[in-house]
Amino acid sequence: MRIDVLTLFPEMFDGVFSSSILGKARAKGIVDLHTVNFRDYSNNKHNTVDDYPYGGGGGMVLKPEPIFAAVEDLLPPDAEVKPRVILMCPQGEPYSQKKAEELSGEEHLVFICGHYEGYDERIREYLVTDELSIGDYVLTGGELPAMVVIDSVVRLLPGVLGNELSAVTDSFSTGLLEYPHYTRPAQFREWDVPDVLISGHHENVNTWRRKQSLLRTLQRRPDLLEGREFTKEERAWIEAWKKNS
Ligand code: SAM
Repeated sequence: MRIDVLTLFPEMFDGVFSSSILGKARAKGIVDLHTVNFRDYSNNKHNTVDDYPYGGGGGMVLKPEPIFAAVEDLLPPDAEVKPRVILMCPQGEPYSQKKAEELSGEEHLVFICGHYEGYDERIREYLVTDELSIGDYVLTGGELPAMVVIDSVVRLLPGVLGNELSAVTDSFSTGLLEYPHYTRPAQFREWDVPDVLISGHHENVNTWRRKQSLLRTLQRRPDLLEGREFTKEERAWIEAWKKNS
C-alpha cells in the first residue's frame, strides 16, 4: 500500500512513521509512507496557503490551489487505480474499525491535514472521496487524526502484526469488545487469574472469552449490540448476568 500525507508540518510524522509497528511495516516494504508539504505548491511569492474567509469572520481558510495541485501531482495521468483522497475533518464521517478494514483493502491513500478555521469548500466538493472525523472534539490540525487512521489501517495489512489472529479478535472487529487478558504471575498480591485460563482446557477458555466479551460489551457499549441476533447461549448468559447484578 502507498500512503501520502499532505501536511504543513511533515516533521510531525518522522517519529510515528519510523517507530514501532509502522516503522517495521515500512522496513518490510509492506507500506510506502510519504509526506508532502503542500506549501511547496503555493502559487504566490509569499508561499501562503491560506486566506481570509469570504463574508468575513475569524480565522483563515486553506486555499484550494495548493491542495489541488499537490494531490494532482501524486496521480500519474494514466493511473488505472485512483487513490482514496481523505480529508481529516471534525465534520466528517465518524471513523470506525469497519472503515479501517475498508481502507486497508485500497492500494493508495492520500490524506489531507487541515489547519486554521478550515478548508475552502471546493476541496470537499471536487477533490476528496472521504471525510473522516476521529471524534466529537476539535484539534488544532489534521496531523494527529491522520496518524490515528494510518496506524489503524496499516496494522491490518497482511504481514504487519506478528500474530495475525490478534487483529481478528480485537475489539470492534468481532462487533464486540475484546475479552479481558491476564499474564503471569497467576497470583499478584491477593488477586488471582481466573482458574479457567490456567486449566489448559481450550474449549472452556474459548467459551469463557466469548461470554466475557459479550458481557463486557453489554456493560460498557450496549450500543454495539443493537440489532445483534443473540444465540440461545448468549441469551442465557445475559439473563444470568442481569439476575446477579
Ligand atoms: N472550524 C472547523 C470546524 O468547526 O469544523 C475546525 C477546524 S480545526 C481547528 C483544524 C483542522 O484540524 C481541521 O481542518 C481538521 O483537519 C483537523 N481536525 C480537528 N479536529 C478533528 C477531528 N475531530 N477529526 C479529524 N480532523 C480534525
